[in-house]
Amino acid sequence: MLRTHTCGELKIADIAKNVTLCGWIQRSRDLGGMTFIDLRDRYGITQLVFNMDNAAALCQQARQLGREFVLNIEGTVTERSNKNSKMPTGDIEITVSAITVLNTAKTPPFTIEDATDGGDELRMKYRYLDLRRNVNKTNLELRHKMSVETRNYLHEQQFLEIETPYLIKSTPEGARDFVVPSRMNPGQFYALPQSPQTFKQLLMVAGYDRYFQIVRCFRDEDLRADRQPEFTQIDCEMSFVTRDDILETFEGLTKHLFKKMKDIRFDSFPRISYDEAMQRFGSDKPDIRFEMEFTELNNALKGKNFKVFDDAELVVGICAKECAFYTRKQLDELTEFVRKPQVGANGMVYVKYSDDGSFASSVSKFYTDDDFHALAELMGALPGDLMLILAGAAEKTRKALCELRLEMGSRLGLRASDVFRPLWVIDFPLLEWDDETRRYYAKHHPFTAPKPKDIPLLETNPAAVKANAYDLVINGVEIGGGSIRIHNKDLQKKMFAILGFTEQDAQNQFGFLMNAFEYGAPPHGGIAFGFDRFCAVFGGSDSIRDYIAFPKNNSGRDVMIDSPSEIAEQQLNELNIKIR
Ligand code: ASP
Repeated sequence: MLRTHTCGELKIADIAKNVTLCGWIQRSRDLGGMTFIDLRDRYGITQLVFNMDNAAALCQQARQLGREFVLNIEGTVTERSNKNSKMPTGDIEITVSAITVLNTAKTPPFTIEDATDGGDELRMKYRYLDLRRNVNKTNLELRHKMSVETRNYLHEQQFLEIETPYLIKSTPEGARDFVVPSRMNPGQFYALPQSPQTFKQLLMVAGYDRYFQIVRCFRDEDLRADRQPEFTQIDCEMSFVTRDDILETFEGLTKHLFKKMKDIRFDSFPRISYDEAMQRFGSDKPDIRFEMEFTELNNALKGKNFKVFDDAELVVGICAKECAFYTRKQLDELTEFVRKPQVGANGMVYVKYSDDGSFASSVSKFYTDDDFHALAELMGALPGDLMLILAGAAEKTRKALCELRLEMGSRLGLRASDVFRPLWVIDFPLLEWDDETRRYYAKHHPFTAPKPKDIPLLETNPAAVKANAYDLVINGVEIGGGSIRIHNKDLQKKMFAILGFTEQDAQNQFGFLMNAFEYGAPPHGGIAFGFDRFCAVFGGSDSIRDYIAFPKNNSGRDVMIDSPSEIAEQQLNELNIKIR
């Protein structure tokens, strides 16, 4: 080894030891008689000292070295006269006796400090320099520990980690596939897996009754802060289990991770149905760190000649505690917020219930004080509270109010990133109707089993069928989702028919799975966690990018290696691809 110690470990107890360290120059200070260098590696920073009086040549040499030079130094651990209690190595410094420059470095394009001066694009382009910064290092350490603890837990529970292929077959369901041309099979393409879904089900048919994999998945979707074209799942499947067995096993994994990573313990996670989540929070991934639940107000507010409410399918509100003092300006801001296209409401009605018991409202023309009293009672509002009400088409209005609720939660400081409130959302609808293409889509995926009691409804009212599907939600983020699967060929066939597949198409695309169901498929189900998101939630961040060593930007580009890129004519020819 080129070093005896790391830059993060030397303490008072090491004084007088002769040591050799390697690292990068974080910064140097030249104080005339003395020169100091902060030497950094993955483990920390150690101060090096050079004294002009008794080692002039070395001191001169040290002064020539620039930021991020890579050094190997020998020296003696000495007690600092000026101790720094904020640094783990702050009690000591190294009186250097020899320097070897292992490599020089150009001046980095941004400062490698916690608060850097580098913008996003620049840091992405020089990601290897960005990764030298503490924030990124801490994030990748967290990610590593999460994967180790995941493996520990699942291994303890008898799960086998089994790899499934990355070059698979394109299917039209779900998101768009990334495809890979096959040179040996001209005109044919592989697809990169959106998830190992069908393979893990085949592993169940094969008898590997507890499978998991920390696995890369690929989806060619439009990107957002919490999406990447390639991302990682903790993918799991179990045989001979009920839904509750799965929820318990993976609640166990989640609790294990919280205990190991954060020393937080939980009671059982609440379980609420999809319908209830939509009604109470307007979302299938509710943030339950705070209440501010929805109150439906059709009965209370319709029929008083306020046309907007009278014409609306749904009138629904939230009560913001102790916000009656909100000014005109603040209320205007909220109205502007709900009108943003991403939120989608036309306007917002407020009712202030002042401390003195009086009401002030944007619709006071239409309602009496008695009406407002009744409203306050319905919404659980007390003097001092502010009621915010939206109206319109039910689904759209719930979605908009959900956004407003989250906005209010943030404004009121009710969404602290170090508070965690996990829950299960269960009983999702099996299908979703799409007006544009005039067909049903699987809400989860086509392999999800309907609730057994709803199977007859598949013929008569498919939209009403509930699935044996569940999501794990933490702080308003969908962390994982899964379902009990169909394991019967006829039911799977029927499902494809409902999704508008011809028998031939279903056979061509998923015949391998349906055939396998004829060879003794056990009942099975599973779940997959978005591993990057899980890490981000643990780290208290919204951005999964911060937890990926080499992420892509918002246009799906890796600006460091400049990809995607054109390929040579000859490569194209070999692949039988013509670009017009
Ligand atoms: N394969 C599913 C997904 O990627 C998860 C599951 O059902 O296990 O969302």
